[in-house]
Amino acid sequence: MERKAPSLAECVQAYLDSRPSLTGGLEWLRGRRYRLAALAGRTPVAVIAHSWRDERAARQVALALEQEWTRVPESCRSAYTEILLLAPQLIVVQVRRNNVCGCLAHRHVLVTEKPFADPHEAFGGAPVGEMDIAVKRVEAWQALPLTDTAFDASFLEGSRLEEFRERQFRLKLLSILLHETNHLVFPHEPESSVRERSLTFYRVALAAYVAYTIQTLSLTIDRSFSRFG
Ligand SMILES: [Zn+2]
Ligand SMILES: [Zn+2]
Repeated sequence: MERKAPSLAECVQAYLDSRPSLTGGLEWLRGRRYRLAALAGRTPVAVIAHSWRDERAARQVALALEQEWTRVPESCRSAYTEILLLAPQLIVVQVRRNNVCGCLAHRHVLVTEKPFADPHEAFGGAPVGEMDIAVKRVEAWQALPLTDTAFDASFLEGSRLEEFRERQFRLKLLSILLHETNHLVFPHEPESSVRERSLTFYRVALAAYVAYTIQTLSLTIDRSFSRFG
């Protein structure tokens, strides 16, 4: 039987592992870590470059790409079909805490992350792009001030609120990653239209999540009442 060709993510991981141990060791000592995440298990593949201190944020970025993307309504995904088709297959995402300029994220004109700066055989000719994302800024960012607060109120109880905050954070991360990918693919598209697309993505995805959760909440309540019926 023919063996399945390794995925791009597997090739990149093999490349990282195959580098001389001195290079990898020095990187490790500097605290640099890489985590791979493929959008819904396919492409683009994100190389989440982060410090060992930002392990948690890097995990949220990975979950946003691997899980959140598959949970959002189809209309959210289809708004990005063309962009993702034209996007670099490999995207380095530099996780930062804050940006001095105050931006949530930037696309980079050149790839600066060392192991990915030069074209490499291991990537099978896949084009590489790069962006950064400031996770503390994203966490504090009020994307839709009024709606966000209204939603918050319906989840004010304990673990539900925690879960809500986490899913909201991931949806914000995802919408920003898509926003910057949009810039990478169409550098001349005006900011207003790029922004409109990513905000719509966030608004519709968050509303769908909230609607679903409220529905399941009331189902649980109904069931517990029926025990006394
Ligand atoms: Zn900036
Ligand atoms: Zn922008």
